[in-house]
Amino acid sequence: MDKDQAAIERLKMGAQASETYYQAPLIICYSGGKDSEVLLQLAINSGIKFEVLHNHTTADAPETVYHISRTFRRLEERGIKCTREYPIYKGAPVSMWLLIPIKKIPPTRLIRYCCEVLKEQGGKKRAIATGVRWDESHARSKRGLYEDSARKIGDRIIINNDNDEKRRWYERCELQAKTIVNPIIDWTDADVWDYIADNKIECNPLYCEGWKRVGCVGCPMADKIRYAEFRRYQKFEQMYIHAFDRMLEVRAADGKDNRTWRNGYDVFRWWMGENHLQEEFDWGAAE
Ligand code: SF4
Repeated sequence: MDKDQAAIERLKMGAQASETYYQAPLIICYSGGKDSEVLLQLAINSGIKFEVLHNHTTADAPETVYHISRTFRRLEERGIKCTREYPIYKGAPVSMWLLIPIKKIPPTRLIRYCCEVLKEQGGKKRAIATGVRWDESHARSKRGLYEDSARKIGDRIIINNDNDEKRRWYERCELQAKTIVNPIIDWTDADVWDYIADNKIECNPLYCEGWKRVGCVGCPMADKIRYAEFRRYQKFEQMYIHAFDRMLEVRAADGKDNRTWRNGYDVFRWWMGENHLQEEFDWGAAE
């Protein structure tokens, strides 16, 4: 079976599980990036009944936000239900810029609380399909393709949009009572681009300008690419700096160690990997 067909079979099994266990259509998670574009087209080609969900991160590039709106208009014209969810934290609307002072530490490669709050709240008590792929991970999985819901708590996966090597094509998140299907988990970058070309998929225009990733502006996972992002989206840099300013105020009010951080700009430089003197700073746990 080729990869397209295998992905479609996984989607069909996900759709069936969705109708059986949740009495509702499978939800296709759509971020406006290339992987979710492929996932969406596969869902269309598979003939399954599905809905589309986008979690508005508040940190996406404007081009991505417009692209998602265009895609939603196109899908809605075909009668496909599309939902855009806005992030809520502890019962109140939140954004990346509000979340940083609330959590009292910057989001980092190791502490990605922002994904959990901004990207992964949708689809509770439902079956969802994501465009997660091992190829996006630094260490690719050597694990098998099918593994049913994990029995041990330590084996349960709760980070939905993280391309971790532990991801499988079928997962259960017990905490959120969610079933997660990852139909293209074993696809390579080349598979994705070939499928996009073969199916003439209209992609996020940022890819045409040479961007390799179109996630949140300033995502700590993007490492040095963030310099190019902040050159293009200077307002985002200002918003991060102001959020770090407020974070330091909250930490000081709480009596937390701010050591020699003078302001949000200092933190921003450290966060960008520039301030090597404070590289070892221990922020403590996110709240
Ligand atoms: S994609 Fe990056 S910046 Fe956006 S929510 Fe996830 S970790 Fe945070």
